[in-house]
Amino acid sequence: MLIDCHVAILGGGVIGLAVARDLARAGVKPTVLLERQAAPGQGSTSRANGGVRAQWTTRCNIEFSKFTIAELVRLQEETKGLPGFIQAGYLFLTGTDEGETALRQGYELQRSCEVPVEWLSPKEVLERAPYVRGEGLRAGTFCGTDGLVDPHGVVQALRNQAITAGAELRFQTDVTAIRFDRDRFLLSTSRGEFRSQWLVNAAGPDAAEVAAMLGVEIPVRPVRRNLACTEPMDGYPAVIPMCVDRDTGVLIRRESGGFLLAYSDPREAPGRDTNFDTWFLEQVAERIGNRFPFLFNAPIDRKKCWAGLYPETPDHHAIVGPTPTHPRFLLAVGFGGHGIMHSLAAGRAIREIVTEGESRTLDIRPFRLSRFAEADLTVETAVL
Ligand SMILES: Cc1cc2nc3c(=O)[nH]c(=O)nc-3n(C[C@H](O)[C@H](O)[C@H](O)COP(=O)(O)OP(=O)(O)OC[C@H]3O[C@@H](n4cnc5c(N)ncnc54)[C@H](O)[C@@H]3O)c2cc1C
Repeated sequence: MLIDCHVAILGGGVIGLAVARDLARAGVKPTVLLERQAAPGQGSTSRANGGVRAQWTTRCNIEFSKFTIAELVRLQEETKGLPGFIQAGYLFLTGTDEGETALRQGYELQRSCEVPVEWLSPKEVLERAPYVRGEGLRAGTFCGTDGLVDPHGVVQALRNQAITAGAELRFQTDVTAIRFDRDRFLLSTSRGEFRSQWLVNAAGPDAAEVAAMLGVEIPVRPVRRNLACTEPMDGYPAVIPMCVDRDTGVLIRRESGGFLLAYSDPREAPGRDTNFDTWFLEQVAERIGNRFPFLFNAPIDRKKCWAGLYPETPDHHAIVGPTPTHPRFLLAVGFGGHGIMHSLAAGRAIREIVTEGESRTLDIRPFRLSRFAEADLTVETAVL
C-alpha cells in the first residue's frame, strides 16, 4: 500500500514533533511523522538535561533560544504546565582573564539581542548562589528567563498538540530507503511505502545516515555525553539556577532533592555508545572543586547516571533549511546539546519554508548546509 502525504517528517524526537505540530497548525495536510521507536522522544530527547538558555555567543543561537523560550511559556500555559518550565535562570561563573573577556563579549551580544542578562560582581554572585566557591571568582552572568524543562513533558505537550492539529504520527515505522522520483520522495519503511512532496530530516544522531539515503552528505556526528546525580542533599534551596563553571565546563542543578552534575569532555570521539561512562565521574571529580567544592564528596546515586548522544556539527550550530540538490528535502538536524531549547524555532522555520517558501520569522542563513562547503563557519563557544 502506498500512502500519500504532503510532508513526511522522518524522526519523532523533539525536533520532528515541533515541526509536525507547526505544520499541522498551519493547515498543511497530510503531515505524517515517521518514527522507528514505539513512542515519541525515545532518542537523544529522552536523555537531555532540560536546560534552556539564551546565553549563547552567536546571534543565530541567541535568536533561536529567544523564540523557543517565548513559545515554551505559551506551551506551558496551553498544556497546564506539562513542559515543567521553571525559569530559574542560568548562572555562568568565571575566575580567569580569558573567561571574563569571553563572558563579557557574550553578555554584550546577548544584551544587544534584548536578552535580560545581568553582569554580576563576585559579591553579587555569592548573594545569589552562596554555595559557590568565591575564591578567585572574577565575575558572573545571570539570565532569569533561562531555566529548565522536563524533556518528557515537552514531548508529551508537542505530541498532544500535533495530533490535535491533525498531524499523523506513525510509530514502529523504520525508514529504510528513500528515492526521489518524478518530483516526489518515495520512502520504503517497515510499515509500507510513503510518497511525499516534502521530506523533513529530523533524525537526530541518525541524520547523516538518513541524508545519505538521498546521496546528500551532512556533517552531523553522534557524540556521547554523560550526566550523574547525587543522593538527596539537605540544606540547599529546592530550586537553583543552572550553575555553569565556565572555566572547567562543569554545570550543576538541583534534581530529585540532590544535584545533577554534567560535564562534556571535548576529547570524546564520535560514536554510538550510550552506556554511562564511569570515567566521567573521575573527570567531574577533578573539576568540581573549582566552584562547587561542597559536591566533592557527595554520594553519587548510580541508578541516576545516564548518557546519550549529542547530534553534533563542527561549528556547534544546527543545520536548518533545504538541501542544495533537493530543495524540498529539508534539514532540521545537528542540534548538539541544545535541541530542546531550539526545537520550537526549528518548527517555525520549517513550517514557513513549506508554507511561505522561506523562513521569515527567523534568519536561518547561518544554519544553511552550504556554509561547510563555503568554509563560512562561525563557531559557537558557549558549548556545554
Ligand atoms: C546528556 C544530554 C544532555 C542534554 N541536555 C540538553 C539540554 O540541557 N538542553 C537542550 O536543549 N538539549 C539538550 N540535549 C540535546 C538534545 O537532547 C538534542 O539536541 C535533541 O534531543 C535532538 O532532538 P532530535 O529530535 O533531533 O533527535 P532525537 O530525539 O534523537 O530524535 C530523532 C528520532 O529519529 C528517529 N529515527 C532516526 N532514524 C530513523 C529512521 N531511519 N526511521 C525512523 N525513525 C528514525 C529516532 O528513533 C529518534 O527518535 C542533551 C542531550 C544529551 C545526550
